[in-house]
Amino acid sequence: MSDVSVPNDVTLMEKVVNLSKRRGFVFPSAEIYGGFRSTYDYGPIGVQLLRNVKDAWWRSMVQMRDDVVGLDAAILSPPAIWEASGHLKNFTDPLVDCRQCRERFREDQLEDLTTCPGCGGKNTFTEARNFNLMFKTHAGPVESDAAVAYLRPETAQGMFINFSNVLQSSRKKPPFGIAQIGKSFRNEITPGNFVFRTREFEQMELEFFVPPEEALQWYEYWCATRYQWYIDLGIPASKLRMRPHDADELSHYSSGTSDVEFLFPWGWGELEGIANRGDYDLTQHATHSGEKLDYFDQATNSRYVPHVIEPAAGATRTMMAFLLAAYDEEEVRGETRTVLRLHPRLAPYKVAVLPLSKKDDLMPMAREVLALLQPHLMCDFDETQAIGRRYRRQDELGTPFCVTVDFDSLEDQSVTIRERDSMEQVRVPVAELLSHLLPRLV
Ligand code: ATP
Repeated sequence: MSDVSVPNDVTLMEKVVNLSKRRGFVFPSAEIYGGFRSTYDYGPIGVQLLRNVKDAWWRSMVQMRDDVVGLDAAILSPPAIWEASGHLKNFTDPLVDCRQCRERFREDQLEDLTTCPGCGGKNTFTEARNFNLMFKTHAGPVESDAAVAYLRPETAQGMFINFSNVLQSSRKKPPFGIAQIGKSFRNEITPGNFVFRTREFEQMELEFFVPPEEALQWYEYWCATRYQWYIDLGIPASKLRMRPHDADELSHYSSGTSDVEFLFPWGWGELEGIANRGDYDLTQHATHSGEKLDYFDQATNSRYVPHVIEPAAGATRTMMAFLLAAYDEEEVRGETRTVLRLHPRLAPYKVAVLPLSKKDDLMPMAREVLALLQPHLMCDFDETQAIGRRYRRQDELGTPFCVTVDFDSLEDQSVTIRERDSMEQVRVPVAELLSHLLPRLV
């Protein structure tokens, strides 16, 4: 981070929200109709950033390992799954209403149980009641009880109910994992803080099945591995911490849970939870479905129910953390330069191709350079405005490299590469452009 004009935390949040709207990262959903209850749409730049966050996760959790396979399970699901998992009964938050202003709050998030933070009313709260966070709907044309379906509130159950399918088809054996990225839905009582807490969001979850006696060792392994993932992608260690849950926070089946937390502008908040879940999930689904969900170990001629280690992260929330950590302002020649110092793997565009002028003679070569890069890298092409302003725009998008085609390029078949963080410029022959850029972008 630079030493000048480091925004204080409240303005940092405002600045990132403004930048998101202005540059096309995140838009409030249904804005032309006045917006819709803390839902958001990911714009042309945001969709790339979010995709890159998910790709970085998939790369490290699936592609780079031979003990994890992927899955994409259905979002619509029958009540039986949520009966077995315990969500129908337990996936609730304590809800209180203010009798005076009618606003609703999560009782466990109130600092003072006697004063309403909405209207300041004293002792105006109703008794707390358990509010189930699952979205309920009906599958098919009849809205009967038999047609009830739920939008999944987490991706995890898809992995448990497909345990046997995956075991048989992939020929993996414990320790092995099933990974999934996808949308989840929770009817949160108090969504907010931009995309930190929304009712529709994306998760990246791994269920890692292990022999029971190896559970602790794998739990520690995944805590360390997941913490390092955020560091490797550029979150400074000063803004990241591992927080083991206290005994009274643990779910009854968990023998250990730790959260990876990020220092958000309002304080520490969870990015990911890593839980040692024992055999709870497979046993529940085996009991409720009547199917065997276990593993027969031929080496020891014994059957056991694997234990599960679950690193469960939020993609949209994590994207926001990357944005906040990357946001920087510095003074350059008397002007404030805003720059997103995103890791190149996360940057929405890797390269922007910029013809120095819109004049016809530069366009064919600029288009050729673009065509050379596009099969390998996500590129932007920008031909309008003064070159300085175009650089600033790319800085705000976090684009690691700008490639400028100027009039000399027509003579020497070379282009200028400008690097985002240092703003240094080097001249490189077009023939060497890819070999220059590619190693710097992994
Ligand atoms: P919280 O305590 O913040 O409600 P949680 O502990 O219920 O979260 P998990 O069920 O462990 O969350 O889900 C795993 C991850 O999914 C969280 O660490 C978070 O990154 C993400 N997540 C959960 N709920 C939301 C939400 N409403 N909006 C955005 N991301 C979410």
